[in-house]
Amino acid sequence: MTEQIGAGKRIGILTSGGDAQGMNAAVRAVVRTAISLGAEVYAVFEGYQGMIDGGAGIRRFGWDDVGNVLHRGGTVIGTFRSKDFRERAGRRAAARNLLANGIDRLVVIGGDGSLSGLDLFRTEWPDLLAELVEAGELDQEVADAHPALMIAGLVGSIDNDLVGTDMTIGADSALHRIVDAIDDLASTAASHQRSFVVEVMGRHCGYLALMAAVAGGCDYVLIPEDPPEAGWEERMCAELARGRAAGRRDSIVVVAEGATDREGNAITSEQVRQIIEQRLGEDTRVTILGHVQRGGRPSAFDRWCSTWLGYEAVRALLAADPGSEGHVFGIRGNRVAAVPLMDAVRNTREVSHLIDAGDYTAAMAARGQSFGVMAQLLRELTEPSRITVNEAGKRIGIMHAGGLAPGMNTAARAAVRLGISRGHTMLGVRDGFPGLRDGRITELAWADVEAWTADGGANLGLRRTIPGIEELYPIGRQLENHQVDALLMIGGWNGYQAMYRLHDERDRYPAFRIPLMCVPASIDNNLPGSELAIGADTALNVIVEAIDRIKQSAAATRRSFVVETMGRYCGYLALMGGLAGGSERVYLHEEGITLAQLNRDIEWLRRSFARGRSLFLAVRNERANEEYTTDVIARMLRAESGGVYDVRQSVLGHQQQGGSPSPFDRLMATRLVGHALDKIAEQLDAGADGSYLVGLTGSRVKDVPMGDMMSLMNTTVRRPHDQWWLRLREVVTAVSDEPEPQS
Ligand code: ATP
Repeated sequence: MTEQIGAGKRIGILTSGGDAQGMNAAVRAVVRTAISLGAEVYAVFEGYQGMIDGGAGIRRFGWDDVGNVLHRGGTVIGTFRSKDFRERAGRRAAARNLLANGIDRLVVIGGDGSLSGLDLFRTEWPDLLAELVEAGELDQEVADAHPALMIAGLVGSIDNDLVGTDMTIGADSALHRIVDAIDDLASTAASHQRSFVVEVMGRHCGYLALMAAVAGGCDYVLIPEDPPEAGWEERMCAELARGRAAGRRDSIVVVAEGATDREGNAITSEQVRQIIEQRLGEDTRVTILGHVQRGGRPSAFDRWCSTWLGYEAVRALLAADPGSEGHVFGIRGNRVAAVPLMDAVRNTREVSHLIDAGDYTAAMAARGQSFGVMAQLLRELTEPSRITVNEAGKRIGIMHAGGLAPGMNTAARAAVRLGISRGHTMLGVRDGFPGLRDGRITELAWADVEAWTADGGANLGLRRTIPGIEELYPIGRQLENHQVDALLMIGGWNGYQAMYRLHDERDRYPAFRIPLMCVPASIDNNLPGSELAIGADTALNVIVEAIDRIKQSAAATRRSFVVETMGRYCGYLALMGGLAGGSERVYLHEEGITLAQLNRDIEWLRRSFARGRSLFLAVRNERANEEYTTDVIARMLRAESGGVYDVRQSVLGHQQQGGSPSPFDRLMATRLVGHALDKIAEQLDAGADGSYLVGLTGSRVKDVPMGDMMSLMNTTVRRPHDQWWLRLREVVTAVSDEPEPQS
């Protein structure tokens, strides 16, 4: 049984301010984790107003009250901008109603306004209680028993504006909405050779605009943190015209709703439209995306991340004592970080002040290192003017190898454009290492990769083949014949092994004494030197969408599903898909499957259906166990069902490798490739031939010497020794393993 640190404690949970996709996942995690830890949990409806109104505005929640909510946008407990809560009288009523339910621990999911209201409430709490006692509205003993309000905040905001964390709840889903819209607009714009101005949300924060411009392959962006210098109209048009001359059939400009010029005058999307139409004579349309950005299904990331945040927030809140300071819980570098609540709010508001004061350098810096890197990469990706022959330019080969991963094309496009803008000649190697052996190598121009951003698949072609000893000589000859100065492989484990072989044989083959770079692309997310690989986020979204449909297909029946994901021996897709999809059980090779465990699960399932369950979902990684296959597990469940439920299995298969890359995969592809090219330049400038694995560690892009590769991997089962995401195993258990009634 889980440690019962919540016994005798009561938690309230509310959502406040603007809604954001993923809030439901957080609410669900808060409710279920609290119950798992023995606490009682109360939902406060309609934000702070529910506390003020009391009565049915505060309701005890059970495990099933948050069933079937993961896939929903918005917030099932309602949100509100409560004017009354801004008044002391409102907050006094709120304190009274919380204590009427014995609640002195509160989780609030909202924006910076909601969180500063929460902090004020906490600060005032002892005084509010004293006033209530004096007014005869509260017994002194009750006030004495609850001397402090203990709080935890989660940031629900599609703008991603909280300083101190990487992503706020809802931002990734909003980016999905925007990038989908840009992809759609790009195809119609290209057909008519039109220009589009796309306005996105973000009054003080350009995150959505900038990242959508990079991920959508757009041509220009206007954001509040980096207003353009005087004369920007002319420069923008010149840049768009150069893009057209270089072969673009469309132009897309992204405008954040809070964009201004350096004097602080608003730049509207309509103004931008007129400028383009008047100066370039192009048919230009405006699309204002508006509230669709807030709506709809949460992305896989917003589900697993919000679930994790809710889990950690509750654990911390139940461990808190009256002297504890309130924290905001956010994701930072694939870890949950707890930031003192008022520091987070203060730093976030400071960015708006910096913008108002015209200190744009500080405003950009406050957004974090990768924000600045992305702004720079976008400039390079959209600046065809830099296509000049550079004497120092090198010849860089790019290729794919291994299994297919969505985002390979985005990475190849970024490599070609960034390489060209830095003065290199970019060479496309077709069809992996067999293609390299046979010399299928051609120069790629700026326009050749025009529409590759959103394309699934791998336009350069790829193979899984690792070259044999006899192929090394012809490969060396081809590298020499084509005067390849450096080789960039974007691919999976077989590609890594192939590059390692070249690296290992460099003493015998001088042609391999060039910088060799690996960039991770594999839906399995099993590569050394990187916590995430390009393609894994897209695959997770495919899995979660499939699970949503599978669950809906069971409406009005009593059914168990066993869903099988890809991943070979790496359980990333199964665990994260199960977490984001809301499965009751996950089966991973990392943990193995035993008969004893299956027995326990079947017994639990039987009792759970007897108590009224109508749906059960297990996610099994394809190689979790060679004997207990998906089919075997499904048969066991069926054999033991006693006719109470039926069983279906679903092997998701290759759809996980297909489809247009998610915004996150596109952004990561761009960033990793940008770093790989930096590293190549560093090596070539120094006359060195260092070879590296490029990857994401925490929120930083890093590189690891290729010589270390094998020590990072368990080569038998083809996965890294360190798998950071395995710590989410306990989160799955907390939110899916309903505690059974004590007999
Ligand atoms: P969004 O980022 O979507 O606007 P937000 O949480 O910042 O979300 P606000 O409207 O600023 O949205 O705040 C939501 C609610 O939080 C307010 O309606 C009010 O009830 C409460 N609130 C905000 N600021 C304060 C404050 N200074 N004092 C008391 N309550 C506040």
